[in-house]
Amino acid sequence: TVLSAKKIQFLISDTGGGHRASALSLSSSISKLNPEVICDVVDVYTTYGNVFPFKDYPELYKFMTSFADGILWRWFYEGGETELGILTNRILTEIFCRDSFKECLSRVGYNRSPSVKDGPEDYVIPPCGGSRADMVVSVHPLTQDLPLKLCSELDSSDGHRTPFVTVCTDLGSASRSWFHQGADCIVVPTKVLEDKAKLVCRQGAAGHDGGRVKRIGLPIRPEFMPTKTKAEYKADAGVDEGKPMVLVVGGGDGMGGIVETAKAVVAAAKRDGGTVVVVCGSNKEAKGNLEAEYGASGGVKVLGYTTEMATYMNAADVLVTKGGPGTIAEAACVGVATVISSFLPGQEEGNVDFVSDGGWGGFIDNNEGIGEEVGRLLRDDGERKRRGEKAKKMGRGEASDEIAKLLLDMLPA
Ligand code: UDP
Repeated sequence: TVLSAKKIQFLISDTGGGHRASALSLSSSISKLNPEVICDVVDVYTTYGNVFPFKDYPELYKFMTSFADGILWRWFYEGGETELGILTNRILTEIFCRDSFKECLSRVGYNRSPSVKDGPEDYVIPPCGGSRADMVVSVHPLTQDLPLKLCSELDSSDGHRTPFVTVCTDLGSASRSWFHQGADCIVVPTKVLEDKAKLVCRQGAAGHDGGRVKRIGLPIRPEFMPTKTKAEYKADAGVDEGKPMVLVVGGGDGMGGIVETAKAVVAAAKRDGGTVVVVCGSNKEAKGNLEAEYGASGGVKVLGYTTEMATYMNAADVLVTKGGPGTIAEAACVGVATVISSFLPGQEEGNVDFVSDGGWGGFIDNNEGIGEEVGRLLRDDGERKRRGEKAKKMGRGEASDEIAKLLLDMLPA
């Protein structure tokens, strides 16, 4: 008989860019520690969600988070925190997604090109025939409930014991739907979320005492850990090495009014001698608008979705960003003064505290103020550096490797 390789399946949904980014960083850490383990990263809802709204989560998320300053999102997020919200989601996924999610958890192949965003899944079956996953890792708040239940049903029918681990990719605040009593282990990045996870686990009917909650960090790609000088990163990024650089980001989807914020930042940089890189992510409209405005002008670089985020982040002297947990954890690892230009109500509120409590930045609610703050930071080298040092103290660049080690230790022999 041919023994098949061990496989870890990562359950994500591309609501924003953070879940895939964390799953990819974990799978690359795992491949580094044990190249024989196969990692299968799957957007469960898009690929196996079957019907509206489940199969359309990424688009729906973009719509809700951008509509009327996030009012719709706040309603959805706060509703999802209640018993009724959790029960409703449980019933609906049970009705509409049970069979297809079971198919997902039973699949013997894996996704060969997991970094392709919005691309077709590149499903391959290994030569040895493959088997269903030996471990399931949820990297999304909505992939606990039904997947956990189905995993234990599959275990009962084939006699395996498949560990189920949740790796929470929020930072300063998180929905309670992340924390399910049935998970074998819940990895969180901060003390605030450790406390919340323990509380939710204790409240559950079959709840454990929270002892399975482990605080490690938010898994970010290892490239973010600086290995070169800022000038070298600036050369790689194609910006003037002699000037301070401002990076403007709005998460994987280029959200949070990125066009207007970028314009305020460019005006400040022109006044105070900086360069600007704007990363619009998958927001093609924003990229088109900004290219039309700054296409021919020096000192401004407009990008769509880039896989070189670590280069731009390390080249940056000031970051202006939506309060996304992934980007903020990356900024801490790199050590860069940060201005938060927007955040999602509820979900990202705690990320603002994470930055301001750490003393390396804060939220400014208008573009004029953001422009002034960027200008001040461009003029004041000392303050910029002080904030960068404070940011570094909050960084956990080694989290991905540490979590990967934990997962490999839990992988059945
Ligand atoms: N990102 C990227 N390329 C881009 C834009 C974003 O790789 O062009 C990454 C970014 O480095 C981070 C993630 O996408 O890892 C965004 O996650 P975050 O939690 O900040 O925001 P979200 O998009 O999930 O709302």
